[in-house]
Amino acid sequence: MTTARRLIARLRDLHAKGAAPLSEIVRLVAAEMVAEVCSIYVQRPGDILELAATEGLNPLAVGRTRLRVGEGIVGLCAATAAVMNLPDAQNHPAFAYRPETGEEPFASMVAVPVRRSGRILGVLVVQNRAPRHYVEGEVEELETVAMLLAEALPAAGATDGAPEGLAATVPRVFSGTTLMGGIAVGPVVLHGTHPLGVKLLADDPAAELVRLHEAAERMQRGLDELIAGVPQAGRGVDAAASREVLEAYRLVATDAGWLRRVSDAVRSGLTAEAAVQRVAGELHGHMRRIGDAYLRERLADMEDLAGRLLNTLIGGSPRPEIPPGAILLARRLGPAELLDWHAGGIAGVAIEEASPAGHAAILARALGIPSIGGTRGMLDTAESGDEAVIDADDGQLVLRPEAEVRQAYVRALETRNAQNAGWAALRERPATTADGVPLKLMLNVGLNLELEQLDRTRADGIGLFRTEIAMLARGSIADIAEQAANYARVLDAAGDRPVLFRTLDLGADKLLPGTATEEENPAMGWRSLRIGLDRPALLRRQLRALLLAAAGRPLSVMFPMVATVGEFRAAKGLLEAEARRVRPSPERLSIGTMLEVPALMWQLPDLLKEADFISVGSNDLMQFMFAVDRGTPSLYGRYDVLSQPMLDLLEQLVVAGRAANVPISLCGEAASRPLEAMVLAGIGFTSLSMPAGGLLPVKALLAEVDLSAFRPVLTAIRRGTRDAASLRDPIVTWARERGLPV
Ligand code: PEP
Ligand code: MG
Repeated sequence: MTTARRLIARLRDLHAKGAAPLSEIVRLVAAEMVAEVCSIYVQRPGDILELAATEGLNPLAVGRTRLRVGEGIVGLCAATAAVMNLPDAQNHPAFAYRPETGEEPFASMVAVPVRRSGRILGVLVVQNRAPRHYVEGEVEELETVAMLLAEALPAAGATDGAPEGLAATVPRVFSGTTLMGGIAVGPVVLHGTHPLGVKLLADDPAAELVRLHEAAERMQRGLDELIAGVPQAGRGVDAAASREVLEAYRLVATDAGWLRRVSDAVRSGLTAEAAVQRVAGELHGHMRRIGDAYLRERLADMEDLAGRLLNTLIGGSPRPEIPPGAILLARRLGPAELLDWHAGGIAGVAIEEASPAGHAAILARALGIPSIGGTRGMLDTAESGDEAVIDADDGQLVLRPEAEVRQAYVRALETRNAQNAGWAALRERPATTADGVPLKLMLNVGLNLELEQLDRTRADGIGLFRTEIAMLARGSIADIAEQAANYARVLDAAGDRPVLFRTLDLGADKLLPGTATEEENPAMGWRSLRIGLDRPALLRRQLRALLLAAAGRPLSVMFPMVATVGEFRAAKGLLEAEARRVRPSPERLSIGTMLEVPALMWQLPDLLKEADFISVGSNDLMQFMFAVDRGTPSLYGRYDVLSQPMLDLLEQLVVAGRAANVPISLCGEAASRPLEAMVLAGIGFTSLSMPAGGLLPVKALLAEVDLSAFRPVLTAIRRGTRDAASLRDPIVTWARERGLPV
């Protein structure tokens, strides 16, 4: 019998006799793992980890040795929820020496988090005198023991007074990043909390394996149905694109690797449910350490699948019943799960570990669910049924809000709904300012799923079609025919309205599998058009697909991250060469560039001779103007588009473009904020492209602004406040004095 099986069998015997005392568990683990020390630390109120039982350390330290979460190896294990496997623990920078424990002689250490429903309940530690690295099998055994402890600790009262008891009535605010703007107020539902009372140890591993494989097959059939059901659930192009995300997901589902790991865990003596939970726990640990966005997404898909498999095993319904207007809190969320919850009627989502480029975020935006990500720690205190508010515009989750706070948000939500109804009326009117200046308001689109927003918002066209998003969703670059069919669908949906296709903007945070490079500054690294010019075959295939899609219709193509006129010329040359080969030719071929790199500003005379149009990518332009990483949350709000340097730059560009008769537009997120849009119109932009959510609010504000009155005010503010980092306050003051809705 392997050590794992023997250990599990003995733990089962202990379990059968009722709740096993922690002292027995540590003795058993130390003996079976031939370890000199085994200890259990439990989490106490105030983020304290207390030594609750030990075999091998000084018994007098029990109840006395305490570490803060984040302090020492044990604290670090709890803070990161990651296994720490250290041959020489005492020389680790985080090591915290506690003389009362008598742990000096023990060099090596492995610490495993004990977690339940996403909460850290404690840490299980094994130590040895000899410096050694614990092998994978040993760590897995400890993870199994940690699962048992997760059940045993609350039962033994070891976590009495744990933070949740204290915190259950206290309001808490968690900050994160906006994945999709909006407000939601409602009761909390928790995603992926492990079903309580799951049996951990199997009586008959062979029968358990059969159960597992049957459940896996049922789950896969269910997924097929879910994916097949999407066309009926959505409409036209909408359905097609969500299927792209789901097809990529299904590939992960049929991957044999992770199911094999679950089977191995069953063979070691766990029930199928416990085995799935353990593998999911391991995946979670891996995910925290992986920097590569793509791999994290794949692992997230697997974690999502593990949850579905668990649900299938316990015979649960894949679509939970939820109270109306519920707010979903999740550690991570996969695309299929989000669809399930959406069908159940959730009103908002907060995800502890979500990247804006992740599948769940892409779908949340497409489905219009107010969502935030990066709200770490919320699951440690949230209980199902708690009241909560998501203010996704501000990236905040308020848990158990004070009554007045909740009411204020309910009112804000009502106002917004009323505004939405008002805006709906605005849809039919062309965008003009109060003094009659016409504007083009266009949409930024990444997935076909979003195309229906064109009609919903009555946008003037697509000012930015991010071609790389569909490739990221499918996990690889589609061939020419598939790309052409996709782009043709976009042009079909747009009809007479213009579409500005942007060529692949991969690299930095948008990585396809196998393309990660070791770069210190990926945002300024080998990305975007740089890849296209170094791999011209890739770029040419995309350009050919675009030309094929146009098939006699007008076609506009622009290139991202152009830094020199030479790069633009080279890219344009590739497009023109392809255009000579593809028949029928587009009715009109317009070739433009994004302006995201400030260096282009000093090449304008040449650029304006060659480019048919320019679109400012203000997200990247801000990043490079102020040397401010756009992905670092702590820097959000530090620099402002509404600042003298940015506005001077943008105005110079508009003036130069007008003189050269080259259309200039702006397609960064800034265009979607009404105040910014007003200022951009003030300095002369007549075409703005933005995410769908911003279009009607921008249109509503512009309809009330008298630009001829605002322009001299703006000039005075820009001249008069030279040293201010932001000109926002005086502009807001002017607008409010006129009763404008900013
Ligand atoms: C930008 O940089 O402003 C832009 C529109 O492109 P992306 O956000 O896709 O980098
Ligand atoms: Mg950009």
